[in-house]
Amino acid sequence: MLEGTGILAPVSLCLLLTTVPVTAQPTDSGPEQVELNGVVYDVPPPWLGNRIEEAADPAELAKVPGELTGELAIYVTSETRDAVVAMAAAAREQGIRLEVDSGFRSYGFQKRVLEGLLARGRPFLNAVRWTAPPGYSEHITGRALDFVPSDADFKDTPAYQWLKRHAVGFCFTESYPLGNAGGFDWEPWHWRYDDCE
Ligand SMILES: [Zn+2]
Repeated sequence: MLEGTGILAPVSLCLLLTTVPVTAQPTDSGPEQVELNGVVYDVPPPWLGNRIEEAADPAELAKVPGELTGELAIYVTSETRDAVVAMAAAAREQGIRLEVDSGFRSYGFQKRVLEGLLARGRPFLNAVRWTAPPGYSEHITGRALDFVPSDADFKDTPAYQWLKRHAVGFCFTESYPLGNAGGFDWEPWHWRYDDCE
């Protein structure tokens, strides 16, 4: 390992400088990276290219009424709050209960969730399958909601069937439906409000 030091060193250095391709440098991995627990990771698909530029102003968020959230204090934009209240009332008239267990989540909150998973030993690429990297979750907009139960079982509930038929009338869209073009895993519990007037 020590051979080549001394007299040969200038030649070796010259070769290194002229033959290492730029693309082999680990720092040349593109602008979409996140720092978690002090480690910088490249953002992988399907999140890559889908960073959310619109973040809600926490000072302007509105609390979702307790009858829709139970014990949880959940905040969304005021338009989203009004829309989900109206939608839940319409569902209730047809015997369907819509319950919310997540709304606005800040960049810092999303970062802490992911850092917690990594600290417990989850590999990064596994953890980001269902937990968006900070800055990539629609929850930062204050217009995304998760309904209860916020897991795959939601697809088998009457609430999901009701939403599939009626949510569009209240300007809600299933963000990551089965077989979505973006390649995201199916999240039947996750819906987004858009101003559709
Ligand atoms: Zn969600």
